[in-house]
Amino acid sequence: STRTSHISITSSHPSIVGILLMILSGLRCAPRRYTPLITWALDSQWIMVETRRFMATKRQQKIEKLQKQIADAEELSGRSDLHGFKIDTTGMYQSTTHNFLPKFDDPKVALQYEEGTPLWHELLKIIGLRGPISVAEYFRYALLHPEHGYYTVPPSPLEGPDCPPDQDGIESYDLIGKRGDFTTAPEISQIFGELLCVWFVHEWRRSGSPKPIQLIELGPGNGTLIDDVVRVARASFPDFAQALCSVYGGAIHLVEQSPALRKSQAKKLGMIDIESETLYATDPDDPTVTSDLGEGAPPIELLLKGRIPTKELQPQSDPKHETNDCSIPVYWHLNLASVPNDPSQGHQYMLAQELFDALPVHSFQKTSDGWRERLVDIASTEEEESSIVDDDEPSEAINALAKKPRLRFVLSPGTTEAVRKLMNTDKQGHVLGENASKDDSSVGDILEVCPEGMSLAQDMASRINKCGGGALIVDYGSALGTGDTVRGFSRHEQVHVLSRPGKVDVTADVDFRALAYAISQIKGDAVSFGPVAQGVFLMSLGAANRVEELIDDDNTTEEQAEDLFTAFERLVLPEHMGERFNVLAIAKQDPERHCPPGFENSFVMK
Ligand code: SAH
Repeated sequence: STRTSHISITSSHPSIVGILLMILSGLRCAPRRYTPLITWALDSQWIMVETRRFMATKRQQKIEKLQKQIADAEELSGRSDLHGFKIDTTGMYQSTTHNFLPKFDDPKVALQYEEGTPLWHELLKIIGLRGPISVAEYFRYALLHPEHGYYTVPPSPLEGPDCPPDQDGIESYDLIGKRGDFTTAPEISQIFGELLCVWFVHEWRRSGSPKPIQLIELGPGNGTLIDDVVRVARASFPDFAQALCSVYGGAIHLVEQSPALRKSQAKKLGMIDIESETLYATDPDDPTVTSDLGEGAPPIELLLKGRIPTKELQPQSDPKHETNDCSIPVYWHLNLASVPNDPSQGHQYMLAQELFDALPVHSFQKTSDGWRERLVDIASTEEEESSIVDDDEPSEAINALAKKPRLRFVLSPGTTEAVRKLMNTDKQGHVLGENASKDDSSVGDILEVCPEGMSLAQDMASRINKCGGGALIVDYGSALGTGDTVRGFSRHEQVHVLSRPGKVDVTADVDFRALAYAISQIKGDAVSFGPVAQGVFLMSLGAANRVEELIDDDNTTEEQAEDLFTAFERLVLPEHMGERFNVLAIAKQDPERHCPPGFENSFVMK
C-alpha cells in the first residue's frame, strides 16, 4: 500500500540497514570475529543494492498474497466491488415476489404489463431485499428519488402520451401547466397570486407594517405564483415590496427540492439569461460571482432587481437608500429548516400552494384483526393466494384498458411501527386510549396519515410564534379527514398510483383537520383558521371586483376578457376548484384581533 512505499533505505541510515540486514540474513548471531566484516558490509554499496532487491521481493510477495485474498473474497461474494465483505441475505424477508415474479421478459406477459421504468428497476432491488415498502416510502421515491424522481428529474416529452402543441405548434412538455400533467391555480389565472398578495399585505399592515420581512414559498413549481405576488406588490403595494428589499434585510426564500424546477423559478423571476441559460450574477456589483441552482446546492442569493420607489419613503440619509432601485434577494433551500428563523430578520410570511398534497402519506386499512398498513410490493402471478389488498383500482376514472402496473398493494401481515405510532394502536392493531371508542371504521376502510405534513405545519406555526407573520396553505382536501385518496396523474388524467414509477405525479388529499390539530398542539399565540373553501376565500378577498377591473381595462381584448372570466369561474365555482380546494391560515391570535381576511366566519382551532 501507499504507506510501505514511503519506506526507503538509504546509505544515510547505515545503522537501520545494518539491523535489517542482520535480522533478515540471520547474521545477528554471527561470532564477534565477523564484526569488522559486517561493519564494512553495512556501509558498502553492495549491501544497499542487495537489501533493496530483498525488500522488493518481499513486498511483491505480500502484494501477491493480498491480491489472492481479494480474489478469493470476490469469488465468495460474487461481487467484484465488495472487497472481502459479504452480505448474507438468505435470512432476510422474502416477499412472495421472489417466487411469483411475472416473467416480464416473456412477450405474452409483457403485453399485460406496463414497461418497467428506471425507478421500477430500483424498487425491484429494494423490495427484493427488504420486502414490501410503505406507501409513504413509495410516495417519496416516486417524487423525489435523486435520479429517478418525478420532480427531481421530470419525464422527457417522449415519455408518456403526446402533449398538445404550444402556440408555435411545438410539442413541448412542462410538468405543471396545460402542456404538462396537471394545472394549478396560479397557472390558471394571475388573479390567484394577486389576491394572495392582498392577504399578506393586509396581515402585514395590521401588524404595523414592520420592516424587514421574509417571504417564504414552499414548493413554488414554475415560480408563477411568487412572480405574480412580487409583481403585484411592486405595482400596488410598494411599501410591502420594500420590506422585502436587501437594504432593509428582507428576502424571498424558495423551498424547492427539484433542481429542474429551481431553474424554472429563476427563469420566471427573470434571473436567468434566456439566451445563454446562465444565471445572472449573484452579486450585482461583481458580475463574476455567479451561482449554482443544482442538486443539493447550498442556499444561494440572487438579487431580483427592480424598480421599487424607495426615495420618497426614506427618512434616513443613508446613502444606500438614496436609490430608486430596490433589489430583493432570493434564496433557494431544500427544506424549511434552513430558512433563517430569527426574529431580528422580521416577520415570516409563508405560502404553500399544492405542496402538502405532495408530502408522503402512510395508508392504513382496517381488518377484522385490527389496523394494518398498506404496503407496496412487486407484481405477482399468484395474487389470489397472497395477502393482497382488496384493490378496487382501477377506478372509473382510470382507463380500464390500461396495462397493469408492475407493482401492487399488499397488507402488512401484522402491525407495523407506523400503525402503532400513527394510529396509536396496540401490537394487534386495536386503537388505544380514548380514541378506542371513537374508532367506528368498518373492515376494509382506509385511512391516510401524513406525518411530514403535520410536522411541517407545526414548524410554520412555531416560526410565526417566534418571528411574527402569517401563513396560507392552499390545497385539495377536506376539513373532515381523508380516506383512500393517494393517486397518480399523468397528462391531466388519473392513472393507477403505482403506474410507471417516477414518470407519474403521485398525490394525496390534504387532511386539513389533521393539520389544524397538529398546529393546535404547538404552544403560543399562533393558531389555525379554517379551512375555508377556496371559492369563498377568493371571493371575500375581492376576486369578482378584480376580474371586472381587468375585463373593463381598455387594453383587454374581447378574447382576453372571455379567458379571464373562464379562469375566474374555474378558480371560484364549487363545481370546479371552488369547493374541492381549501385554504388554511396560520396567524397570531390576540384578544382584540379579528380573524384574518377570508376567515371571518371560519373555525378557529386552539
Ligand atoms: N405551487 C406550485 C407547484 C405545485 S407542485 C403551483 O401551484 O403551481 C409541488 C411543488 O412542490 C413542486 O415545485 C415540487 O418540486 C415541490 N416539492 C415536492 N415535494 C417537496 C418537498 N418535500 N419539499 C419541497 N418541495 C417539494
